[in-house]
Amino acid sequence: MSERSRPRCRPATARHLLLLLMWLAHARAVAAAEATSRPALAIPDRLRLLVVAPHPDDETLGAGGLMQRVQKHGGRVSVAYLTSGDGYVDAVELETNSLKPKPEDFVDYGERRLHEALRALQAISISQKRLFVFGFPDGGLRDLLSAHWSSSTPFVSPYTGDSRPPYSQSLSPDTSYSGVALERELARLIIRLNPGWIAVTGPWDIHPDHCAAFHFVVRSLRRIHSSDPNFRPPVLLAYTVHRPDWPGFSEGTSLNAPPNVSPDGASWRFLDLTSDELDGKGRALDQYTSQMDIMAVLFRGFVRPNEVFAVYSKLPPEPTDVCGGAAK
Ligand SMILES: [Zn+2]
Repeated sequence: MSERSRPRCRPATARHLLLLLMWLAHARAVAAAEATSRPALAIPDRLRLLVVAPHPDDETLGAGGLMQRVQKHGGRVSVAYLTSGDGYVDAVELETNSLKPKPEDFVDYGERRLHEALRALQAISISQKRLFVFGFPDGGLRDLLSAHWSSSTPFVSPYTGDSRPPYSQSLSPDTSYSGVALERELARLIIRLNPGWIAVTGPWDIHPDHCAAFHFVVRSLRRIHSSDPNFRPPVLLAYTVHRPDWPGFSEGTSLNAPPNVSPDGASWRFLDLTSDELDGKGRALDQYTSQMDIMAVLFRGFVRPNEVFAVYSKLPPEPTDVCGGAAK
């Protein structure tokens, strides 16, 4: 081949090639950095997982993929609902077409949300038998940690008007609304189920019920430990539902840890979901029609390729200031 006919790399093409190589190297470095900054959540076989949800839907938003993965690994998943989500005033007003819904309207709404929870769990093959309802006051869990800790000062729901669970499926319908009662009942359920892991909303969650749920789980574990020193606390995982700029609405992009959250004594772990798990999570969320009608955009923000958990290596110390108030 003569010098004249030999194909030559034009300077501009060479520059493009160089830029492409640099971009590939950069992309590879970013991917490697992301992989190391997103350590994977390793799930043991035959794990007993208890997911504690302040309201119906929180379990699927935060841990819908985790629940499916645990089952895939031969494990058993149980879900405990601390409240039935019956205090959503705007939604009840909308449902009843009334600006002054009656107490029974709020209970009906709670029943509806519990029914949706049942269908959501069925959508990811969790049996009705593994669903546990406490029926404690929606919007009142934080108050139970302070002013209504003692059973002598029970909380009265401003929505249902009840001072004890009005739901027939409640684990303890005769228990009055107090912090000490919820701690005791939750401890009973934990002893009964003996979970290896418990997943609950994190103390940094800005919804007071979500923050309080975390402290109730920690207190219940301490209560069990104080009466049985041989008790080995389960691994505690915290998931996030309500935070500023969380989860964001970039459909299809992976979630990082929630911004500006550095939980003491915990490390972030990431669970990449398969497409089947992602479909399952979407299907489960679709069952919450009462919430989808109001906040579909927020819900869709959680259907992402991964889930994020803070994993505690040991039980966190109980702070005196919890969820913006002094604890008893
Ligand atoms: Zn919630």
